[in-house]
Amino acid sequence: AFEGLAQRLQGTLQKIKGKGKINEADVKEMMREVRFALIEADVNLKVVKEFIKTVSERAVGQDVMKSLTPGQQVVKIVQDELTNLMGGEQNPIQFARKSPTVIMMVGLQGAGKTTTTGKLATVLRKRHNKKPLLVAADIYRPAAIQQLETLGKQLTLPVFSMGTDVSPVEIARKALEEAEKEYHDVVIIDTAGRLHVDEKLMQELKDIRELSKPDEIFLVVDAMTGQDAVNVAKSFDDTIGITGVILTKLDGDTRGGAALSIRSVTQKPIKFVGMGEKMDALEPFHPERMASRILGMGDVMSLIEKAQDSVDEEKAKELEQKFRTQTFTLDDFLDQLQQVKKMGPLDEILKMMPGAGKIKGLENAKVDESQMGRVEAVIHSMTIPERTTPEIINASRRKRIAKGSGTSIQEVNRLLKQFEEMKKMVKQMTNAQQKGKKKMKMP
Ligand code: GDP
Ligand code: MG
Repeated sequence: AFEGLAQRLQGTLQKIKGKGKINEADVKEMMREVRFALIEADVNLKVVKEFIKTVSERAVGQDVMKSLTPGQQVVKIVQDELTNLMGGEQNPIQFARKSPTVIMMVGLQGAGKTTTTGKLATVLRKRHNKKPLLVAADIYRPAAIQQLETLGKQLTLPVFSMGTDVSPVEIARKALEEAEKEYHDVVIIDTAGRLHVDEKLMQELKDIRELSKPDEIFLVVDAMTGQDAVNVAKSFDDTIGITGVILTKLDGDTRGGAALSIRSVTQKPIKFVGMGEKMDALEPFHPERMASRILGMGDVMSLIEKAQDSVDEEKAKELEQKFRTQTFTLDDFLDQLQQVKKMGPLDEILKMMPGAGKIKGLENAKVDESQMGRVEAVIHSMTIPERTTPEIINASRRKRIAKGSGTSIQEVNRLLKQFEEMKKMVKQMTNAQQKGKKKMKMP
């Protein structure tokens, strides 16, 4: 997702980034391009207008114009405002004070409600230590109940169903009793969808809502439907009131319009994004990380989390520690490479790396996995001191390493540069995080 937008924005910002002096005309010119990029990405027009206005006002401010690095400041402003646009802070699940927490899944047919119910249960069990009960309340298609039951079996999670002859409200009532009896601390109700928003569906959802008093009502929408997704979100929110959005199919080639518009139009946060059909493909939505991914600044925090999910716990902790204390060496990098293969498609992973946007061919193309073998070869050709302290790798060492690994000096350079940028980015993020923590503690 976001490839087109990312490419355009990065191109535009690249032009202004290095400028030692900028004037209003520069900003205006840049904003014209940014506007075009957003419209191309199918972002809601009103949202585009507001975004351009806010960024322009900030960018022509005196402190930017007079600063030593105006270009970089403008880039920072775009990043900030892109983050704000998508909701600012990550918005976690609201759990009930008194169990069980009830989560209602709503949305149109085919949006991904049932699949996401399974994924969400997986997240709740794994990350929050919960014992979820899944409830099959889509009684209009027998296949829908079966689909959830199959997921339940696959995940070894209990599914509550009463067939198709009992009303969804009654199913919800019985499911809550069952949850009480079996000590489930979360109940996820998978409701029916229609092809379009209609009166009857909304009434049914209202009835379920009245009975189950959900702590969260998650609207599941398909990111591929662009502005339709935004309209659907608006009408669901107006009629039944949602507490958050889960945007599915962000692994597809959506232009990104929905992700960038929904928050601004509905004032409701995107809480998770679906990144694939598999049960582990649901990620918390982090506006800040998404913004920096779009701007080609990488997303090392998500990378670490992905590693934690697929690499064994001990190793992941060690890795995180090393990242934080800045003692991550090329040896660790090599060690991780083998593990990385478990984390998913390589091109998706690489896109999270800082500076990835600048790697030629990465924007659209699938990454050649044999490239990984070359990276391994490069590191293998280094001595231990070189791997621990890459700073000592001077020109003659680079030449030797390239020769030894059967690669080129450019490839060695690229790897070292990437590694440096990755470390820099982690440092920035860690600092920012610590600053954020301090702020929160202040009275
Ligand atoms: P429902 O009608 O809202 O319950 O939708 P389903 O859960 O049955 O999903 C409809 C289709 O979308 C299924 O084929 C899912 O595998 C697919 N799907 C759901 N979420 C994602 C996602 O994040 N990425 C991709 N690629 N496919 C998804
Ligand atoms: Mg369904």
